[in-house]
Amino acid sequence: MTPKAASQDIFSEHRSASRWKPGAFAIREGRENALAKVELRGISLSYRTNDGARLLALDDINLKVRAGEFLCIVGPSGCGKSTLLHLIAGLHSATSGSVLVDQQSVTGPGTDRILIFQELGLFPWLTVAQNVEFGMKMKGVPKAEREQKIEKYLRLVHLAKFQGSYTHQLSGGMRQRVALARALASEPDVLLMDEPFAALDAQTRDILHDELERIWAETGRTIIFVTHNVREAVRLGDRVALLTFRPGRVKREYAIELQRPRHLEDVSVAQTAREILDDLREEINKSIEEQYGYEAVQ
Ligand code: ADP
Repeated sequence: MTPKAASQDIFSEHRSASRWKPGAFAIREGRENALAKVELRGISLSYRTNDGARLLALDDINLKVRAGEFLCIVGPSGCGKSTLLHLIAGLHSATSGSVLVDQQSVTGPGTDRILIFQELGLFPWLTVAQNVEFGMKMKGVPKAEREQKIEKYLRLVHLAKFQGSYTHQLSGGMRQRVALARALASEPDVLLMDEPFAALDAQTRDILHDELERIWAETGRTIIFVTHNVREAVRLGDRVALLTFRPGRVKREYAIELQRPRHLEDVSVAQTAREILDDLREEINKSIEEQYGYEAVQ
């Protein structure tokens, strides 16, 4: 079987499991009613600013993410996207409301959720294999199992040959793949990704989109992916949630019903992104007005 046919196969398997229902409409508004893997109930969060005032970053966020779903969160800069991921990761507490994973309240970080962000957090003094091993070592995973998982996950991200390399010997895209392998190796149920590909060149990002989509289909992980790039969200997501500019609220949710695998250049992806972008523009204009003090051009 050719690699392309093999990847089509993964996706038809998912479709037959009714995870994807390609229909006449590329996009529909939709709330998720299935039993949730992750649920945000009435989440509000305010920060204390330097002058002692309170800044309401998130306001009454209600979202359900089902097991194995790929949810993308988009919104203008400063709308609270990262804050939302930190809440789910258990790194912040909400001012009110609750975060539930498998119907249990999140009270702090847990090995069932892993946050991957742009800065990666790889250790330059460790080899690729040792970086992937690190989290497992901290968790007390036995050595034989660690070695087997290093092998498995580096193969999954196509870096098996680079086990002994140091991160400075790798390109940006390869380092991002090491970070992904490290996160996958601790086998979390939920991957929280905060603009992981924003700093990469377009070609590398395209390759990583393909790889992330394939890995997601193969591993069945639940992914919550934050981006300010609507086209990236449509290319990757089963669903896109659009947040408003300060305070962040869920303005609208879109079920993306385009066939997989998808590509950024697909006309259908561009058209769907365009519809969401029209809704996002109002929020971007509000953020420009607040940051620069003038009205954005319509
Ligand atoms: P986004 O990821 O959408 O760009 P963030 O979640 O980083 O937004 O931030 C949301 C809002 O909260 C922004 O206005 C930001 O300035 C503010 N904020 C974020 N972190 C803090 C903090 N630790 N203290 C005070 N304000 C913060």
